[in-house]
Amino acid sequence: MRKYVLPLLLFTVFSAVGVTLWLTKDNLFYLFNFGYIGGAIALGLVLFIKKYRHARRVTQLLVGGYMLVYLGLICRENMQLEGFFYYLFTGVFEAATIHYAVAKILGPLLFGRGWCGYACWTAAVLDLLPYKTPQSPRKKLGFLRYIMFSASLLFVSALFLAHVGNLEKIMFAAFIFGNVLYYASGVILAFVMRDNRAFCKYLCPVTVFLKPMSYFSLLRVSCDKSRCVECGKCRKICPMNVDMTDNSRRRENGTECILCMECVKVCPKNALGHGSGKEKTAR
Ligand code: SF4
Ligand code: SF4
Ligand code: SF4
Repeated sequence: MRKYVLPLLLFTVFSAVGVTLWLTKDNLFYLFNFGYIGGAIALGLVLFIKKYRHARRVTQLLVGGYMLVYLGLICRENMQLEGFFYYLFTGVFEAATIHYAVAKILGPLLFGRGWCGYACWTAAVLDLLPYKTPQSPRKKLGFLRYIMFSASLLFVSALFLAHVGNLEKIMFAAFIFGNVLYYASGVILAFVMRDNRAFCKYLCPVTVFLKPMSYFSLLRVSCDKSRCVECGKCRKICPMNVDMTDNSRRRENGTECILCMECVKVCPKNALGHGSGKEKTAR
């Protein structure tokens, strides 16, 4: 039963957030929303424990699809970074502000960049492309994410400063345009750099939040050094170029780990697992 602690813990955390928001905001939607997301994440983890090959894809599809299609396209809520700034500026703690607080600002202290591995609807498509393992060395282009972040902030600030009307409509159009832009640039970058996750590494502005918060993540891949034979298979398969054999917080590309567990699956000595960083947890 010990191996099911993590899915149970995450389901409990998400349900607790849902109940808290339901009672404080008097809106039953939050209970459904967070119960659904927590349930989808727990299901993916249980399937992973049961060694189902497409476990992560199941969660990506359930959570990413729900957020893009239901919350974004049907409920017309801008769940991208511009939506976060928009709701923040209007002083409303709803939709994108709650989403960002839970998945991208506070949540990463607990589950790192689990969002990037299990829920992001952009990456759900990029992960289907041919270059699951990077075919070229990592480039020093991370500064581009700050340009993207600033452009997003400037765009929303300009709308408010210019007192533009019909902001709800503009934000919905921005959501559609933003997603088309992300998908197009993500696919082009993947083929040019022969790396499915190139967009995540260089362009995605959300990483401005995700990276510093996930540095402190409680949940992370750790290595049992007494079992490791330095074969290097784990580093070779990692889509994010992380050195997971180094247990320190400062390990190479440590804040890039998306918890996909590909390294854990490939290790011939069962030396990798999720843990606090000092010990590996049995899987
Ligand atoms: S880095 Fe950005 S695009 Fe990539 S998975 Fe994370 S949030 Fe999605
Ligand atoms: S795959 Fe396992 S044994 Fe090989 S280097 Fe990685 S942790 Fe060590
Ligand atoms: S392969 Fe391992 S270290 Fe690399 S992103 Fe996936 S879980 Fe993290």
